[in-house]
Amino acid sequence: MKIGLCQTCFYMRTVETKRGSVFYLCALAKEDSRFSKYPSLPVLSCLGYEKKS
Ligand code: SF4
Repeated sequence: MKIGLCQTCFYMRTVETKRGSVFYLCALAKEDSRFSKYPSLPVLSCLGYEKKS
């Protein structure tokens, strides 16, 4: 699956279900309503993007 920017973003969290499905969750959505908790992937541009170190 293509994830885009979220793949290298500080705010990305992955959630894995018992059945092995993986969900990509944007932690920035918790504090800023402009972002969606489960962004539509791939994300090609994003104001909140911060490269993880
Ligand atoms: S801030 Fe943007 S790039 Fe970063 S995880 Fe959220 S949606 Fe993805």
